[in-house]
Amino acid sequence: MSKRDYYDILGVARAADQAEIKSAYRKLAIKFHPDKNPDDPKAEDKFKEAAEAYEILSNPEKRKRYDQFGHAGANANGRGGYGGEMNMEDIFSQFGDIFGGDGGSPFESFFGGSRSRGGGRRVIRGSNLRIKVKLTLEEIAKGVEKKIKVNKNVVCKTCDGSGAKDKSSFHTCSTCSGTGSVRRVTNTILGQMQTTSTCPTCNGEGVEITAKCSECHGEGLTKGEETITINIPAGVSEGIQLSMSGKGNAAPRGGIPGDLIILIEEIPHEVLKRDGINIIYDLHVSFVDAALGTTSEIPTIDGKAKIKIEPGTQGGKILRLKGKGIPEVNSYIKGDQLVYINIWTPKALSKEERAQLENLRESSNFKPQPGKNEKSFFERMKEYFE
Ligand SMILES: [Zn+2]
Ligand SMILES: [Zn+2]
Repeated sequence: MSKRDYYDILGVARAADQAEIKSAYRKLAIKFHPDKNPDDPKAEDKFKEAAEAYEILSNPEKRKRYDQFGHAGANANGRGGYGGEMNMEDIFSQFGDIFGGDGGSPFESFFGGSRSRGGGRRVIRGSNLRIKVKLTLEEIAKGVEKKIKVNKNVVCKTCDGSGAKDKSSFHTCSTCSGTGSVRRVTNTILGQMQTTSTCPTCNGEGVEITAKCSECHGEGLTKGEETITINIPAGVSEGIQLSMSGKGNAAPRGGIPGDLIILIEEIPHEVLKRDGINIIYDLHVSFVDAALGTTSEIPTIDGKAKIKIEPGTQGGKILRLKGKGIPEVNSYIKGDQLVYINIWTPKALSKEERAQLENLRESSNFKPQPGKNEKSFFERMKEYFE
């Protein structure tokens, strides 16, 4: 969850130009390529992390958005979400750009065969797992750690994900010698032409299973349960998606697990309304309190707060409790709580009350005298929301 800064991942300065970013990524992609690090599962994570950082920082628009909003902000729905959604296909398709061009790129000769073109041993990737997390306004305001039990595909313990009954029922594919691809050479008038395609025997996986594991029936996966700790940053909102790399469904035969995609849902608060980073509260005061002044206890996101109603307060006034709102994701900016003052007019009066009010009816102080200081409703709205 706590994603690293994309600039840190690539080891470049925030002001780095495209050439620097490209060169930094190229080095990392070669260093952490899964084929070069078969025994280091962390290399795969680093490989994906670097690819994701490059995906964002190489695109001027995405980079700008990242600079502005950070990870979570830029992951928001409808903004062409990114982060964690990249699969291996996406990553390898970047390479045409990075390693210069078409089928004959130096990258392919380095690792032996392009993956995106059907050659090379196929990397199996687990599917992404989507869950919804419901948050209260209090949790959104402060950020929260959630422990969530998820049902997902896990690596089969009986066969350790191979899908084979035992070690002797699992061997290198004889058709492709474990490379996952087959080459065919055809003679044409222009000379010999070589084509590469996915091995039909092993479906590109490079291995053949002669007897299947009885537990998982050769899938290499079983249903399991995992409790995942999710750190949700303060300030998220309804519809935002967060992603945790590698926490989705497992992949068989040493493949890469998918990602866990977390969809945020807000539980509406009983009395406080959220408006972006601000919180709105409707306060009703009697016209006696409005005329004489009073103190009123109101709910806030941090518990009760006392506010002062000045004598002569008009209905429609907005009081601002600074910093009592919601923080912006990945930022020091924090919203306010806005208290809308509504004057409560009694709906029923006793004989005595009526007589008292009748006495005041003609009093000059009770005649409305809006001056220049009495802003209209629209002016007040403008003041707060523009
Ligand atoms: Zn094969
Ligand atoms: Zn199994």
